[in-house]
Amino acid sequence: MIAKKRVPAKRRGERMAPAEIGEFFARLAELDPEPKTELEYATPFELLVAVVLSAQATDVGVNKATRRLFPVANTPQAMLALGETELKHHISTIGLYNAKAANVIALSALLLEHHGGEVPTTRAELEALPGVGRKTANVVLNTAFGEDTIAVDTHIFRVCNRTGLAPGKDVRAVEDELLRVVPAKFRRHAHHWLILHGRYTCKARKPQCPACSVRDLCHWPEKTPAA
Ligand code: SF4
Repeated sequence: MIAKKRVPAKRRGERMAPAEIGEFFARLAELDPEPKTELEYATPFELLVAVVLSAQATDVGVNKATRRLFPVANTPQAMLALGETELKHHISTIGLYNAKAANVIALSALLLEHHGGEVPTTRAELEALPGVGRKTANVVLNTAFGEDTIAVDTHIFRVCNRTGLAPGKDVRAVEDELLRVVPAKFRRHAHHWLILHGRYTCKARKPQCPACSVRDLCHWPEKTPAA
């Protein structure tokens, strides 16, 4: 289920021009040519489980739990053998762990039943798995299978509306706009560049505007001043 968010029009930046968008990504790419997810994983199944666990939780918190979980269970078979009660113990530090444990067990059973124990590579098959919505499917398609999908989370939603890169009233509108305006050569890594920019620079409460590498391209009228 994709959460809908609304950003008042006055809190959105004016739309960026195509040349500004190209320069925006060129700068993020220069700073971090091969951006990676901060979730720790070694296989598509581990990534899928980590992303399911990460809803409304931090990557740091998920990594702490999966460092204990994956050595014990990192395949659908092993997850079913572990069982829901034991899985809950492993992930009890993560929010909504009861529902997440039920989803991980159910999706493991479904992977075995319909996909030979492998993580499927199409959006429709991924979104048919318990606990997997459009955002999770986008992350798996992009990070595990190299597709040019862009998963819009709270950080990306904020950055796109603030800067004028891809304004939209909800996460789906922002995703559609990003797919329309991001130059093809930047689409593969756009998700991670934007998420990391939002997480560490264009923060929700106190954006680091004076130190921001794309400050002159950003159209947000409320940039934080230099100290
Ligand atoms: S200048 Fe400020 S608001 Fe604009 S992208 Fe950078 S950190 Fe975000």
